[in-house]
Amino acid sequence: SIAARAKGLTKIYGSGSALVTALDRVDFEIVKGEFTAIMGPSGSGKSTLMHLMAALDTPTDGEVWIADTAVSSLADTPLTVLRRDRIGFIFQAFNLVPTLSARENIVLPLAIAGHKIDEAWFNQVVDVLGLGDRLTHKPSELSGGQQQRVACARALMNRPDIVFGDEPTGNLDSTSAAEVLGFLRRSVDEFGQTVVMVTHDAHAASYADRAVFLSDGRIVDELRGASQEEL
Ligand code: ADP
Ligand code: ADP
Repeated sequence: SIAARAKGLTKIYGSGSALVTALDRVDFEIVKGEFTAIMGPSGSGKSTLMHLMAALDTPTDGEVWIADTAVSSLADTPLTVLRRDRIGFIFQAFNLVPTLSARENIVLPLAIAGHKIDEAWFNQVVDVLGLGDRLTHKPSELSGGQQQRVACARALMNRPDIVFGDEPTGNLDSTSAAEVLGFLRRSVDEFGQTVVMVTHDAHAASYADRAVFLSDGRIVDELRGASQEEL
């Protein structure tokens, strides 16, 4: 089934004579339980597409549906609730709170939302992450790969419909990147999670089920099950 869908998605930045068409009438589907990589050169519209699919920004034209919900139909409050409860986000910079432990960082969004912590789910996620003995550590006491795995766990705590990653391995060495990518892969295979990741790295994209290629704001190609060499 379809986790999210876009039709005729267009985003134009700027005003007057300084207009940039970042996305040009894009149709796009995110299949539930799949790991999708969005690839393409710098400036091709990857971040714009991801931000629109995650309901973080508003299109100039076209529509995004998350499951059956048309994002444009939502008022501010239900939109905030949708972002909080149904979307997970992993950034290139890990965005952890330096004064909090790994565990406190992981559950912080739930605490802010006033949701109960599902300890069984927490343990399952932390098990797969291999962070069991690091939960009391502060971010500064963790490696980059461990910090990003904490951010991955945080993104999964609300059992989101879709997890979006914006160059999640962009700041990591290859060993740490492989840990994070392996975790995202396992979250799809073992938890049935849906993951969408922007990357320009063919190795990162090889973990995905599907790679979509953008060029000048349009989807120009799509590959399934491609190896690093094919990407
Ligand atoms: P990518 O993620 O592939 O690098 P982006 O989606 O960031 O591409 O950008 C697509 C195009 O839109 C680029 O030409 C970029 O300069 C432009 N753009 C992105 N964000 C803005 C913005 N806030 N204001 C103006 N132009 C922008
Ligand atoms: P585990 O934690 O089970 O030892 P990894 O974390 O190394 O395994 O990998 C997790 C998942 O990612 C596995 O399903 C594996 O098939 C996949 N994977 C590992 N390395 C690669 C790679 N280079 N390219 C694509 N997928 C990979």
